[in-house]
Amino acid sequence: MAMESVRQFSAILATGAILGQPPRAKPVQKNCSHLTASRLIKLVTDCLDEIPDHRPNQCKNGIPFGNFTKSAFAMMQVKMPSMLRFDSERADPVRVHNLETLFDVIDGRVPCDTRMREVMDPVSPHWLQKSFKKLFARVQRSGYLQKFEFPIGRLKNHYLLAIDGTQTFFSGKLSCDDCCTKNQGKAGEAFYHQLMGDCIVHPDQKVVIPLAPEAIVRQDGCTKNDSEKSAIKRFLANVKKDHPYLKLIILLDGLYADGPTIRLIKSYGWHYIIIAKDGNHGPLIEAMDELDKQEKVARFVKTDPETGVKHWYRFANDVPLNKSNPDEKVNVLDFVETDKKGDRHTWSWVTDIPVTEKTIEALMKGGRCRWHIENQTFNTLNKQDYHLEHNYGHGKQHLATNLAYLTVLAFLVDQLQQLGSPEFQKALKERTRGVMTHLWELMKGYFQTWLIISWEGFFDAIINRAVAGVVPYDSS
Ligand SMILES: [Zn+2]
Repeated sequence: MAMESVRQFSAILATGAILGQPPRAKPVQKNCSHLTASRLIKLVTDCLDEIPDHRPNQCKNGIPFGNFTKSAFAMMQVKMPSMLRFDSERADPVRVHNLETLFDVIDGRVPCDTRMREVMDPVSPHWLQKSFKKLFARVQRSGYLQKFEFPIGRLKNHYLLAIDGTQTFFSGKLSCDDCCTKNQGKAGEAFYHQLMGDCIVHPDQKVVIPLAPEAIVRQDGCTKNDSEKSAIKRFLANVKKDHPYLKLIILLDGLYADGPTIRLIKSYGWHYIIIAKDGNHGPLIEAMDELDKQEKVARFVKTDPETGVKHWYRFANDVPLNKSNPDEKVNVLDFVETDKKGDRHTWSWVTDIPVTEKTIEALMKGGRCRWHIENQTFNTLNKQDYHLEHNYGHGKQHLATNLAYLTVLAFLVDQLQQLGSPEFQKALKERTRGVMTHLWELMKGYFQTWLIISWEGFFDAIINRAVAGVVPYDSS
């Protein structure tokens, strides 16, 4: 046996992990950050425990009700690629131990995949939205939210909230009560779910902070499909109810640059920066061109001295939004960026924030930040092991919606750790050079092989490159 292996084996013996028993990761001293895994996940599992048991007689001797949602949340948090995979190792003693210590799955009683789907299906999705509010309150109290403040002109203590819809499910066969239907009763009939996602963003922050998403699904008692335009009304109302004092600047794409949406945002006391596209906002572009002819449009050009990138601005205030909303006046900012290769990139936004030479740069940066909902959020949820579009199970009522919410919830917990957990940041930097998917792989490996007592010990083992053991091999 090589000397290095001997040392590793001796260390394993010292932990009492021999003959197939995995070693125990040592707990380390807790730090006082508010955004560590132990605190965030405790908060989530406490919220999941508050969901009322809908089972007949509440199955008093059966699996505790909270174990169903906590196991499903754990499945998302450890990035299991499928419910079948999660189920296949359900009885594994290491897995059972870790689900109990890390996710408060009581007595390690993990439900099978079939029971998990059955029990989670009728749970109203609004119960799963509650964890988002609690986690956001934790971010506020921790002081980390201040990093996301985005002042523009006279607006202080405001935050950018990017919102957009994304498809999470599409099938020609499977459907549930929540499904919207395409080509109903005709050839090519198909079923789909969408999700209205959102997040607090900042141009200088890689991290995003999702508030509770809103499923774009058929509503109770409704025969018509749901739509993004209907969902955003529910979504904004919920944000106002959950965060009545939060000062927001809403970032949206061109679909929402209309009178009703703008009036709704203003009615809540918020502001907006919304994309205006040539194709959808012809009258607005024409109005800007007309004002330009009358020399009522201001221009400003600036070249970045470091990058050589040229920024060209054109703006006007109090422009009619469109012919059907002549009294709805918006402020318009056109922006063209010419990079060093000479390629031109063009944006146009409408906003209620006064556009002046002092505000154009902040408005441009804020407006471009809408991209974070597509790039840092939806792309991450689909391509970095969160499997948002994967069908973990569809159910007959709300299962698919509930699993989608739990996926976003796991993403939020990870984002908050990246923002304010020294142990997470250290593991990410020192073990995987900042590559998140590599950290997930590493964590999954430890989760499946080590008896982990605490989240602190979990990260300590990863950071200190703890080695699990030596596989015996008899060559005789
Ligand atoms: Zn469905």
